[in-house]
Amino acid sequence: MFFKREKALVSKAKRIFIRTLVGMTGLLTFQTPAVAGEISHIELGDHEITMHFDGLVSVASGFTLAGPDRIAIDIKGASVRKGSAGGSGIVRHVRKGQFSPDTARIVLDLGRPAMIGSGRFAKNGKSLTLSLVETDRSKFAQLVKSGRKKFLPPVNYRAKPPRKQYSVRIPLPKAKPTVKLPKIYGPSDSRRPLVIIDAGHGGHDPGAISPHGGKREKDVTLALAKALRDELVKTGRVRVALTRESDRFLVLQERYGIARRMDADLFISVHADAAGNQEANGATVYTLAESASDREAARLAARENKSDIINGVNLGNTPDDVNSILIDLTQRQTMNLSADFAKLVLREGRGNMTFRNNSHRFASFVVLKAPDVPSILLESGYLTNETDVDFLTSKAGQDKLARSVANAVNVYFARQLAMR
Ligand code: ZN
Repeated sequence: MFFKREKALVSKAKRIFIRTLVGMTGLLTFQTPAVAGEISHIELGDHEITMHFDGLVSVASGFTLAGPDRIAIDIKGASVRKGSAGGSGIVRHVRKGQFSPDTARIVLDLGRPAMIGSGRFAKNGKSLTLSLVETDRSKFAQLVKSGRKKFLPPVNYRAKPPRKQYSVRIPLPKAKPTVKLPKIYGPSDSRRPLVIIDAGHGGHDPGAISPHGGKREKDVTLALAKALRDELVKTGRVRVALTRESDRFLVLQERYGIARRMDADLFISVHADAAGNQEANGATVYTLAESASDREAARLAARENKSDIINGVNLGNTPDDVNSILIDLTQRQTMNLSADFAKLVLREGRGNMTFRNNSHRFASFVVLKAPDVPSILLESGYLTNETDVDFLTSKAGQDKLARSVANAVNVYFARQLAMR
């Protein structure tokens, strides 16, 4: 795989790439996952809480939770040692802990319904004071449904917002602004992971066409995408959006562009294969790699990547050379997460769906090239195989596939949560 290549080669590519980018846009920024300040101590008054930091933090936000009633305060760019202490006034208990590598969380267990009134950072950014205001039950219920209240340190005393670990921001050419962001299904809580499901092909690009009943890949993938969406929404654990919900054409870049613009946590592109040999059957999960794991994977990627080329005109406008260097820079973590998820799909699908031998393969699919969103491409089966066509176009088959992938999604995010 590409990341096993010699370092020298990669860093040379990087240098060239950086030069090119700076020339092109000057947008490249490297960010390290630095936690800037530790919460050194917390002062709790009857109607006020003050958090002191030993360094700069990037942003704080507070929100309300019910059953039991709580106020949570997240401080990005901060670390905190796990602990709890008794409260005073309307606060029964104060608990603190590291919510994620770059975010410290303080939780106030409330004796009576209360809300954050006002908040201010000290002039040097080294402390944050929030006022706590008692409120009534109905106002509290409203607050639970509303979003976060944000507090920013003074501009010169603000830690740079930490990015996802090891991420490299790459100025991919923007997806066309005309592509509207799709509707999000599932809980309205924006802290829930967002899964983007991409039904392959669409519009004037039918994809593969089945010799058994003329089923078109674009319709099969849309039905599967919708079945998976419904299954995921049923779990209530994640938010879901589809790159397309109707028979329309999107260039490949717009598909992963949607995932990036929505800051998605997982991207699943659904396809169905075709082969000269009508016996060929079963599903395969692909993840991104610069060099394909076998010739068939390479051929398939070349064919799927052709979606963008209509009458010889390439509608996806990323030049090939930029693409290949982008892969060099793609963070290893995204690749690893993608591979983890691919394995879970195989594990959860066992017994419910048919997979091929070597059912996890690698190739350079354009649609998987979001550098910061773990992504897989699921070739759900062969439209040239009668059994597969029956499975993929029946409600029962679609449900089985959707359940398998949804289970994999749940395990994937549960593991990530456990790792925090
Ligand atoms: Zn396809």
